[in-house]
Amino acid sequence: MSQPDMQQTTFKDLDLLAEVSELLKLSDLEKVLNHVLQLAAKSVGAEQIRFYPNEAHWLTWTNLLVDTGRLLDVPFGIVNTVKPNSLLAWVLDNKLGDIIMDADKDKRWVESTAGIRSILCVPFIYEDDVIAVITLTHSQPEHFNDYHLSLITIIANQASIALHNVHSFNRIQAQQRQLQVILQAMTDVMFVLNENGKLILLNDAAVKILGLSKINDARGMTVLNLVDIDGMFEPVAPLIAEEFGSQSDWSFETRSERLQRDYQVRMSTWHDTQQTVAGYLIVMHDITTLRDLHRFKDEMLRVASHDLRSPLALITGYADMIKLDAPEDDEDIHEYVDIIKKSAERMDSLLEEMLRVERIRNTPLELHEQIDLEQTVKIVIINLRPLIEAKQHRFRADIRLKDIPRIKADPVLIRQSMENLITNAVKYTPEKGRVEVEAWYAEDKFQFKVSDSGVGISAEHLPYIFESFYRVKQTVTTEKGTGLGLSLVNNVIERHHGELWVKSQLGRGSTFGFWLPLN
Ligand code: ADP
Repeated sequence: MSQPDMQQTTFKDLDLLAEVSELLKLSDLEKVLNHVLQLAAKSVGAEQIRFYPNEAHWLTWTNLLVDTGRLLDVPFGIVNTVKPNSLLAWVLDNKLGDIIMDADKDKRWVESTAGIRSILCVPFIYEDDVIAVITLTHSQPEHFNDYHLSLITIIANQASIALHNVHSFNRIQAQQRQLQVILQAMTDVMFVLNENGKLILLNDAAVKILGLSKINDARGMTVLNLVDIDGMFEPVAPLIAEEFGSQSDWSFETRSERLQRDYQVRMSTWHDTQQTVAGYLIVMHDITTLRDLHRFKDEMLRVASHDLRSPLALITGYADMIKLDAPEDDEDIHEYVDIIKKSAERMDSLLEEMLRVERIRNTPLELHEQIDLEQTVKIVIINLRPLIEAKQHRFRADIRLKDIPRIKADPVLIRQSMENLITNAVKYTPEKGRVEVEAWYAEDKFQFKVSDSGVGISAEHLPYIFESFYRVKQTVTTEKGTGLGLSLVNNVIERHHGELWVKSQLGRGSTFGFWLPLN
């Protein structure tokens, strides 16, 4: 090439490269494809173009390619099958571009198309994947040279990045639209907060409970703003403000007095790529109906137990009178009346128990004492030893509470809660089973746990056993009870800002435990 020619080519190619780099600015797939094909044909003076989009991209690209092809100055075709031993197959296998100088002499040109003598074929590669192949043709032999091959390779490389960017952009947009639809269709309330507790995303249900009219009115609000709107958000603020070690999921109930509604809240953290907390997801499920039902049930039982006690007293009284009046030798009458009396007394003690639980629930905690948890656990175990031994259980206690700080708690209720869990373990474990008590403290929490090798509880019953009067059918037949114990323990532990938990497997045994905050 002579000097002026060389200079002319260089300027022309620089222009071309500048045009190629423009590709990266486009965000529309159709525009990118159109631009790439125009540039490719123009830069090497091709007479025809064929384009082979690789399988994964085939469906998304086909329509666009047809439209794009119509706008091209040169004839354009889409290839969807790769013939064996063809140039296309060679390029796909080798992930390299190549030229056929003369179609008549190169076996790799397997097409029958007349009037094609030179072919230039180049892959579009992204991260080692061939996403497409372009074939440019000319009716003269030896039309294309290595310089053309380099030019088209540069265009293909840039185009691959541009296509990938557009593809990712489209995918993210589609995902965002899908997410939006899901979020808006959700009846549960959803908030996403960033690591500082600022609202970055919420759904319509969330906008509604905040009493706002548009999503935009809520963006940028902080948790404290939420607490100002409704006190039900109070439990969220401390979870964001403090470091919680490895805990990243919380579940609690909250009530909005403003809306007169109850919510089950699930809160979890999400992490960025460095595994640091990037924000929080809060999902709130409306459980008002369920809570109303429980309140109604408890109220009904409370009223019923009050009202049932007087007729019961009458029954017992009259039974006594019958006994007094009945002839002493009429054993039958005495036997029948004794049965009536016994039944009435059983009923009375059941009602008494119900009222006792009700009283405990409704009286404030006695928080005058700083209690010694090590002592409490030891006393509980000593008191229950006879019960455990009566059933010949293997018993083990592991108490690691030396120097545990004293805490302000209701001594009677905490002791009863521990007793209740151990009594249940003894009760629901057949004779000669295993019962273990463990108590320790770590990370500002006192932990208490009772495991047994008893009958266990199936997964379907587990969510309900902390509700009052809930008893599992199989165990009802074997052991007496009211179904009030665990609901009371749950109530007591919650009021001490701790948590009661259970793990159980039917036929294998159960572990009940709770923790209490030490500060
Ligand atoms: P109660 O023991 O008076 O029935 P609770 O409220 O203490 O009432 O327990 C509720 C139900 O949970 C029990 O009826 C029983 O079905 C089940 N349960 C409690 N503790 C255990 C345990 N350790 N093993 C198996 N089932 C248990």
